Amino acid sequence: MPRTLLVVEDEKPLLKVLRYNLEKEGYRVVCAEDGEAGLAAFRREKPDLVLLDVMLPKLDGFEFCKAVRRDSRAPILMLTARKAEVDRVLGLELGADDYVTKPFSVRELLARVKAILRRTSEGRSAAPVRAGGLEVDLERYEVRVRGKEAALSAKEFELLRCLLKADGRALTREQILEQVWGYDESMDIDTRTVDQHVARLRDKLGPEAERLVTVKNVGYRLKAD
Ligand code: CA
Repeated sequence: MPRTLLVVEDEKPLLKVLRYNLEKEGYRVVCAEDGEAGLAAFRREKPDLVLLDVMLPKLDGFEFCKAVRRDSRAPILMLTARKAEVDRVLGLELGADDYVTKPFSVRELLARVKAILRRTSEGRSAAPVRAGGLEVDLERYEVRVRGKEAALSAKEFELLRCLLKADGRALTREQILEQVWGYDESMDIDTRTVDQHVARLRDKLGPEAERLVTVKNVGYRLKAD
């Protein structure tokens, strides 16, 4: 079964390029040219991933994200045109999984798409994982802190998942960028992005926050016991 991708983008030439390249990779591609049509297509097609432009007619990318997140955890990759939009994507808890800034290379975009789809399929058959008072259900994207559910953004969840998988070992910021953001060296992502997400994750882990340890000059690790 090919994976279905929904592309919501009002620039027709870009939409065409995206469709062509994604179909070439074997994905089934559904397109929409404004936010409302995109939302209707989302509900109808239940895509495995959404590629979402920010500035859209009728309903913009931020509103789209919020509407989708009310009842779905489907991954969303934002296509942003301006630095200010990137700040909003990162700063607000919109629930977007990742972003690329325009103009982006097709190669970079395909790498991100692959990384996101790989992560979401990895989680599908796993049993809940525990670390002390933390319980992480990889299938349902649920995290419990001492029995109480914590509302993590998609990125915070992936960050926690990658630290759990390291089984107590420290990961460098670069390793985390690679695993959580699908980073490769050609991409321009600041390692401070990792620190910002770690800070937010610690906040949400409340009484278990101390498990997430800063390892000086290296990165981070998660204490398992
Ligand atoms: Ca646009």
